[in-house]
Amino acid sequence: MSLLLLRGGHVFAPEDRGVVDVLAAHDRILAMGPGLQPPADFGSVTVIDAAGRRVIPGLVDQHVHFLGGGDGDGPTGRVPELQVSDLVRAGTTTAVGLLGVDMEGKTLAMLLRKTHELDRAGITALAWTGSMRLPAPCLTGSVRGDIILLDKVVGAKCAIAERYYPNLDFAALAQLAGEVMQARSAKGRAAPLLLHVGRLAEGMRAVFDLIERCGMPADQVLPTHINRHEDISPVFAQAIEFARLGGTVDITCCLGPRDGIPTGIDPVEAVRRLLAAGVDAARITLSTDAQVSVPADEPGRLRAVPPAILFRDVRRLVHEAGLSWPEALAPATVNVARVLGLAGRKGRIAPGADADMVVLDADDRIETVIARGRIVMRGGTPLLRGMFEA
Ligand SMILES: [Zn+2]
Repeated sequence: MSLLLLRGGHVFAPEDRGVVDVLAAHDRILAMGPGLQPPADFGSVTVIDAAGRRVIPGLVDQHVHFLGGGDGDGPTGRVPELQVSDLVRAGTTTAVGLLGVDMEGKTLAMLLRKTHELDRAGITALAWTGSMRLPAPCLTGSVRGDIILLDKVVGAKCAIAERYYPNLDFAALAQLAGEVMQARSAKGRAAPLLLHVGRLAEGMRAVFDLIERCGMPADQVLPTHINRHEDISPVFAQAIEFARLGGTVDITCCLGPRDGIPTGIDPVEAVRRLLAAGVDAARITLSTDAQVSVPADEPGRLRAVPPAILFRDVRRLVHEAGLSWPEALAPATVNVARVLGLAGRKGRIAPGADADMVVLDADDRIETVIARGRIVMRGGTPLLRGMFEA
């Protein structure tokens, strides 16, 4: 049996557990408490000295373009695939992949294969079926079938208020939402409908219609990209209203001036404003939209958004917005795990949970990453890389 002992760190589970040891056996956390002593006859124990360090759960990012997203800049602007080391470096130990605008060159079959690649490499990778358009593409003949039959599929994605995919047929959207809701019952765990909310003036109108006209529970729908400026979209105010109905709203880390998108509200500012508006902190998630393209510093060039902006913004919530570590971590750990039906296993440091943990250095930068009980980054250097990564 392989045992891993994280000795003497200040554990944020994300709740503040104080200075405790964490003992993992294989891929799970076995015990947590002060002065843990693994039994001598259990074989070798790898000990990581975390004294004076913060230990946080591995982050959960529910919006990652494994195959590259964006792709609105012609053949030379096609975004390359993500590498496993990008996730490791980000402290993201659970990532959910999805399709973006390119559905000719990038398909659900490719996404599922890439999901298997990343998962086999060592992090936990999952995927959304569907894409931006209606009818939603699927792998097994139906979206419902994809969610029920494919373990890796957590739910379905679609778009609303998006000029490229206006999806004006409300009946078709309602049918998809109903199908996903039914798949949730059959699968026996959460299976949300992730809705990309574009820039059209109607914003989240269709979400309220799903609730009012179709009896859709608010927690069945997960609107994302809600941090758009009021002068281009009503979505931010709508998100506050939706959260009051019991829905969870997803803020996109790359949507903001810091990543070259001035029409977005900075994610840290967006969290601060949602909390100030009285939104329940448990109803807020953060995700990156990683591996979409944004303008690079060099004119005429693009760069891919790295998954590391999730921890960047968690850290900023503490260092710039003055949130506590438990408050700052929840939108990137337990809240996302709950929405995805992974509560208890992911986004939490507790006995029985997967051994996904991150040790921060004295400056609150990522130093060590443990994914499913394996050390995948040490001293700031990823130990995992893709088979063909240089
Ligand atoms: Zn996206």
